[in-house]
Amino acid sequence: MAYANVKPALAAWRAAHPRATMREIEDAVEEQVAKLWAEFLAEVARQSQADEQAHSERCGSKLATRGRRTRRLRANGGEPIVLERSHAVCPVCKPGVFPLDRELGLLPGSPLTMAHSGPR
Ligand SMILES: [Zn+2]
Repeated sequence: MAYANVKPALAAWRAAHPRATMREIEDAVEEQVAKLWAEFLAEVARQSQADEQAHSERCGSKLATRGRRTRRLRANGGEPIVLERSHAVCPVCKPGVFPLDRELGLLPGSPLTMAHSGPR
């Protein structure tokens, strides 16, 4: 759901639910906003130089990227977040890393964006 589609989607929902209660409208808006929130989060997180500037933590060599991989996360509200980032390998000591994950403080393998529970 792109930003520009949220208002038309809500208008369509409203047209299909002309007698909705305030509570139902609140739920419908919340659902759309949650999707948008997850999209914004991924978009802002991707704006990083981490992939281009990554160096090996062990030997300091510049890492060589080995293609892009997708990581699926879940926001605290349960919304799926799709994060595409580079996989990089040290040419000297070899271990592969995801520089953006490292910069963002994402734990390896964790399906969650944050360990704490947010205010939502
Ligand atoms: Zn290294």
